[in-house]
Amino acid sequence: MSAQSDSLQSDALSQAQAQYEQFRARGLNLNIQRGQPADADFDLSNDLIAALGREDTTFDNIDLRNYPGGVQGLPSARALFAEYLDVKAENVVVWNNSSLELQGLVLSFALLHGMRSSTGGWVRLLDGQKPKMIVTLPGYDRHFLLLETLGFELITVDMQPDGPDVDAIARYAGRDASVKGVLFVPTYSNPGGETISLEKAQRLAGIKAAAPDFTIFADDAYRAHHLTDEGRHEPVNFVALCRDAGFPDRAFVFASTSKVTFAGAGLGFVASSEDNVKWLSKYLNAQSIGPNKLEQARHVKFLRGYPGGLEGLMREHARLIQPKFQVTQDVLAETLGTDGEYATWTTPRGGYFISLDTAAPVADRVVALAAQAGVSLTPAGATYPGGKDPGNRNIRIAPTRPPLAEVEEAMRVLAACVRLATEEYRAAQG
Ligand code: PMP
Repeated sequence: MSAQSDSLQSDALSQAQAQYEQFRARGLNLNIQRGQPADADFDLSNDLIAALGREDTTFDNIDLRNYPGGVQGLPSARALFAEYLDVKAENVVVWNNSSLELQGLVLSFALLHGMRSSTGGWVRLLDGQKPKMIVTLPGYDRHFLLLETLGFELITVDMQPDGPDVDAIARYAGRDASVKGVLFVPTYSNPGGETISLEKAQRLAGIKAAAPDFTIFADDAYRAHHLTDEGRHEPVNFVALCRDAGFPDRAFVFASTSKVTFAGAGLGFVASSEDNVKWLSKYLNAQSIGPNKLEQARHVKFLRGYPGGLEGLMREHARLIQPKFQVTQDVLAETLGTDGEYATWTTPRGGYFISLDTAAPVADRVVALAAQAGVSLTPAGATYPGGKDPGNRNIRIAPTRPPLAEVEEAMRVLAACVRLATEEYRAAQG
């Protein structure tokens, strides 16, 4: 390297150091780690708490306090979330808080008993091999944790701007009957905010898999979580697409009200074919007399009564969340430029996250520098199985929880850390 470029580089490094030290000296305490709603988001749903009165002991002619009611959920809750998922009430099971729990239940039943078209439980059919599940990268750490905890071997494919790499899924699923399915987020994915296109969804629904029980597990957690009305992504309907492709039992679509009403006190639900709803009900019935009907009735009353219904509520969320996504984009572009010299990042039209890739392999250093400057980021590597990002580049940004001013401040610190970590790396490379 020439003496001139050497000194230019050390200038860039010392500037980045000086800027970082200014932030560090301020003793900040900011957290953009958690994909949680803000208190202002929760406050939109506070009327949920008192949506039922003392007189509301029955709903749908069912006594909310007693056992009878079945495992599929209150009829009016099934109808409400069927509208949400664009299916019929008969296609829906409404369960308790947490769609992740429902994902775990369906996967566990598949492992123990197999799906309707299986010859046996997935855990048993392979001579010493683990059943395999395809996931997208970067992805959601809790999907990896759930699948690995249940004993699946993970196969990874890229998440592309228009959804998972369906060609790669077709290759893996086409040649190996131990590949039992794919678990991914079809709308405004975690962490990149990508939505699967209708064309890709149709191809995925009709994929020729070696396993007759190859299953699409679509975690549609952000289905209605548009940031604006303009250019919003239309979610796809995997239940209908798989039926039309001649595989009526191929899809399970999960969602919840965790980012609609209360993250810790909402409702999880799942849609599939009517036959799969019967399959699931049989196993749920063996372990529960039924879900919490009071919570279901409370949600129905609150969401049906909200001005504009559930969609009206989501518009109010967008009003609060969109500025946080906007300031994230603005600060990153202003401070890091848009030429990719330091980093590239996604520009989601909905959901809860933005995915940033550093140009140099420095994600762990960025997260450590940010922590020293009082900004808590999602741990580097969290978006990869086992918490290990082989490229050491991906960082998940979760801007929803802190107030707007704090998101802006945290983004300035993050950008300063990306700049410093990159200059340090380049200086060390010489
Ligand atoms: N799926 C995805 C993709 C998520 O991002 C989250 C929350 N971070 C969840 C599921 C959790 O959903 P629930 O609260 O319904 O279990």
